[in-house]
Amino acid sequence: MLAAQRLAEAGLRVQLFEAQATLGRKFLVAGHGGFNLSNVEELSRFASRYGAEESRFEQLLGHFSPLDLRAWAADLGIETFVGTSGRIFPVAAHKPADLLRAWLRRLQALGVEINTRHRWLGFTGPTGLRLRNDNPGPDAGREFVLEPAATVLALGGASWAKTGSDGAWVPLLQEIGVPLTPFAPANCGAEVGWSAFFRQKIGRTPLKNMALRVSDGPEVRGEIMLTEYGVEGTPVYALTPRLRAALAGGGPALLHLNLKPDLPEATLIHKLSQPRGKASFSDFLKKNLSLSPAVPTLLREAYPEAATLPPAALAALLRAVPLPVAGLRPLDEAISTAGGVAFPALDEYLMLRQRPGTFVAGEMLDWEAPTGGYLLQGCFSTGAWAARGVLNFVR
Ligand SMILES: Cc1cc2nc3c(=O)[nH]c(=O)nc-3n(C[C@H](O)[C@H](O)[C@H](O)COP(=O)(O)OP(=O)(O)OC[C@H]3O[C@@H](n4cnc5c(N)ncnc54)[C@H](O)[C@@H]3O)c2cc1C
Repeated sequence: MLAAQRLAEAGLRVQLFEAQATLGRKFLVAGHGGFNLSNVEELSRFASRYGAEESRFEQLLGHFSPLDLRAWAADLGIETFVGTSGRIFPVAAHKPADLLRAWLRRLQALGVEINTRHRWLGFTGPTGLRLRNDNPGPDAGREFVLEPAATVLALGGASWAKTGSDGAWVPLLQEIGVPLTPFAPANCGAEVGWSAFFRQKIGRTPLKNMALRVSDGPEVRGEIMLTEYGVEGTPVYALTPRLRAALAGGGPALLHLNLKPDLPEATLIHKLSQPRGKASFSDFLKKNLSLSPAVPTLLREAYPEAATLPPAALAALLRAVPLPVAGLRPLDEAISTAGGVAFPALDEYLMLRQRPGTFVAGEMLDWEAPTGGYLLQGCFSTGAWAARGVLNFVR
């Protein structure tokens, strides 16, 4: 959609085809979860969030930066603000649907021809696109071919298929020999083999102010949610690349949960050395360390004799509760998709080497990033850059 806007602003005739009945369904889903559009982080740190694609994103963010994104939203009448940890959101007065509506109005005003319920079915000949009109009526199911001067594909990843991002484009690109990295869930929950007792007792319980790491990797701070299947929440999502790598290597993928990351070990041992008297394990942990009632259950789940551990050993357990991860949640539940069109398939403007004039943008490209505004910003920046590539190409 941003590529369409940029190209229409440059005076090109733009036709947009969307398989669903409405545009931007996943954009609206992102809106339900807080609508974190981007982040004010300094650009080189921002680019490092894209892992192996850091240097590519340094260039992409230079072309369409978080500042550009804020200016773009403001130009649509949507003011933004910077929230905790630098995250950029639309101000509360604006609902996600307001931004989407304003954007669609702008596209229409620019003359972009929007065709919903139109599915791209594949390529034909050197420049042709096969499309199908799925609107009810006399044309329902009609297939036709379009011969545009250039094409931007922005078909999304393969999670939340109900929003339209179903990954069904994979064979259509494989047919012409485009190298693809297999899809994998990113920013998703991790499955832990809880006992039946734990699952029943805990249900969904948040754990605040904790830190999480995979094996001896770096700690990620934040809040996690204990769920029936395992754990979810921002720190878990941020660790999915490491978990995936550990699981792919045959495991074990071990998460370590630090329940008191701000307390020096000596202080923790001192607090745990206080006389317990007649207090239960749960009351003792609550009184001395303000730990929630879920914690003793979690400690016993990890180590059945937790309540009888001497202070130093109990402190060590509280600082590294082992959570053996059996797997990641299914792709369709994930916030984003790793894998997709591999960058060696593209030139510097995101144009397919196998098919000059066809550009690729957004989550269908093989990059991943944590939550925090890096996903939408990545989609916007690749969209703006692909539009620039189209302009170079057609001129
Ligand atoms: C629950 C949730 C919360 C999120 N929250 C945030 C957040 O707060 N911040 C953030 O930065 N990111 C967030 N994201 C991620 C963000 O929404 C996505 O990264 C982004 O929407 C991807 O944009 P895209 O344009 O690449 O693909 P999509 O938004 O998936 O759009 C692709 C479109 O292509 C259409 N399409 C697919 N195949 C065809 C075809 N053959 N023919 C025609 N049309 C087709 C689809 O119907 C779809 O509308 C969230 C995602 C989820 C699921």
